[in-house]
Amino acid sequence: MINVLTKEVYNRISAGEVIERPSSIVKELFENSIDAGADEIVVSIEGGGIDEIFVMDNGCGIEKDDLTKVFLPHATSKLKTAEDLENIRTLGFRGEAMPSIASVSRCSISSTTDNDVMGYNLVVEGGEFGEIVPAPCKKGTAVTVKDLFYNTPARLKFLKSDRAEQNDVTDLIEKLILSNPNVAVKYSIGDENVIYQSYGGGFKEAVLTVYGADTVKKCYEISTEKNGIKIEGFIGNTNFFKSNRTYQTIIVNGRWITDNTIATAVHNAYANYLMKRQYPFYVLSLTIDPQFVDVNVSPRKTEVRFQDNHTVYGAVYSTISKVLDGSADALNIVVTEPASNTVTEITDFSRVTSNDEPALPSDGEFKPLPPKPSFGIEYPTPTRSNYDHITDYEIPKPILPQTRVAQSASVDSTPVSDLSTPSAIDDIFKENKAYIEKLERERRQKLDGEQQSMPNDAPVKVIGQALTTYLVLECGEEMIIIDQHAAHERILYDKFCRKVKEKEILKQDMLIPYAFRVNAKESDLLFDRIDYFRDLGIDLESVDDSTFKVYAIPVDLVDINLDLFFSDILNDSKFKEETIPTIIREKLMQKACKSAIKSGDSLSQSEINSLLALLKQDWGLKCPHGRPVCVKISRTEIDKWFKRIV
Ligand code: ADP
Ligand code: MG
Repeated sequence: MINVLTKEVYNRISAGEVIERPSSIVKELFENSIDAGADEIVVSIEGGGIDEIFVMDNGCGIEKDDLTKVFLPHATSKLKTAEDLENIRTLGFRGEAMPSIASVSRCSISSTTDNDVMGYNLVVEGGEFGEIVPAPCKKGTAVTVKDLFYNTPARLKFLKSDRAEQNDVTDLIEKLILSNPNVAVKYSIGDENVIYQSYGGGFKEAVLTVYGADTVKKCYEISTEKNGIKIEGFIGNTNFFKSNRTYQTIIVNGRWITDNTIATAVHNAYANYLMKRQYPFYVLSLTIDPQFVDVNVSPRKTEVRFQDNHTVYGAVYSTISKVLDGSADALNIVVTEPASNTVTEITDFSRVTSNDEPALPSDGEFKPLPPKPSFGIEYPTPTRSNYDHITDYEIPKPILPQTRVAQSASVDSTPVSDLSTPSAIDDIFKENKAYIEKLERERRQKLDGEQQSMPNDAPVKVIGQALTTYLVLECGEEMIIIDQHAAHERILYDKFCRKVKEKEILKQDMLIPYAFRVNAKESDLLFDRIDYFRDLGIDLESVDDSTFKVYAIPVDLVDINLDLFFSDILNDSKFKEETIPTIIREKLMQKACKSAIKSGDSLSQSEINSLLALLKQDWGLKCPHGRPVCVKISRTEIDKWFKRIV
């Protein structure tokens, strides 16, 4: 017999898709508040959110007559027709969260709209509707979800410990604060333990709230537009890494998502600077025309599909590489440079979530939330005075290049207000550009004069080679130990990369052209990119439908294994233009590694000198594989070893 399931049973089954754990409920409730136009949202949880979740907003509210509809499956105010799906600007649209939540918990909703003199409350327990009763409350909506999964013990068993669930909620709130920077969010565990409080003051303030000033100082603040995609964010400097991926946030059109295309693009841009198990820190916010993004991919709406992955990858990859590699274009991307780019320890900002120690340095000003059911009571509106704990953060100068121009090119210090006119901005911008180009030219000239002796910032004294592996130097009050192999490898690699980048690639014709076979799809892919390969120094021709021949390759790649090289390129499932330079770069890296001075090679004084000249006192360098090239030990440290000082 085939049964048509009752609404209650159906809701409980479908609840599994969206409502897996407390954090998924918080996400849905929070997003409903955002969709309702709220700019203040209060979230609190108890017992990891299993005992209680409370979300209150100052959004548009729900009319009395609509209160029941909130809990009907596929009831939504956000969509009417299938065409609307093409242009979704709200976070929710499936109309399944509220009925799902109410079917597996005791849920209470109170709401007041502008039209109502008073609010109304409806309780739904395990899908059973109560009466709609008057309830005094401010404009907006408050939802309380109690006793999650009380009627589905099997699901309850799948939850983690209260503490682990609580951490999941806190992680989620971080992402929600970051993706809703113009919304004031107050998040507490229990009534009084405020974990995060943001004030809706914009993206930077949101990043500061979540990660703190120390982290922001180590980041580039970027903002640019590429191929119609606006990219904004904070990306860690080349010496600032985390030991896991949780410090990576991707926001697309205000929606926090996980996305492989963007994550891979960022990862690849950082690849040169990363060691094993190091992960870059970033908060990236992309704005793309909604018609090119399909958000209706997963029930939880945490993934999206781009109409053109390739463009998104390219925009993100090129933006971030330009910034990290310090290309001249970075001028148009970087808003604020990191305050420091020195080698920093891998510090994990660990949020404290225990009851006694809130993560934010609480100044005692956080007011406890009001008793929850009586929504009529005003909760303290977040004010900036509570934000004082970050005033010790040195607010970065707005746009670094402008500051530089003002200082060194003695441009009249235009009053800030004048900058608001487009022409003034244009002028400053042009001058900045000219100035930065000058700097860039100087930098190049310096780089090109490779034979020049070492710049003499602090006098360097070469002590010698130790253990036929390390060079030992003295520089000011520091002792420097250099890994000769890593240093040489990095120098060779930089040289190769510069040549590839500047298209000054010397080609070498092959005595016997190298032929390889491909299938039809591969043949099309290669054929379309023959010019691209030529630019990279690889002359390729198609012989017939299934055979290609290589006639010339870059001098620096002559002894690579071409079989492996092309199979690497063709096996790369996505085979994107962006991945070819990465593969070439890897080959160059191997090449650099092979031809570099080995550890165990004993070096003459003049060999040491020429290596040091090439290194140009760039002690912060890492080898192409990400290992450090130099280690500095200060006099103080050494003095401590010998207990000269304590
Ligand atoms: P969806 O968000 O996909 O529309 P939900 O089940 O999450 O579906 O919510 C159903 C409807 O309830 C929403 O479309 C909205 O009209 C209403 N609603 C839910 N939460 C709120 C809120 N906080 N403020 C105003 N309206 C809300
Ligand atoms: Mg919703």
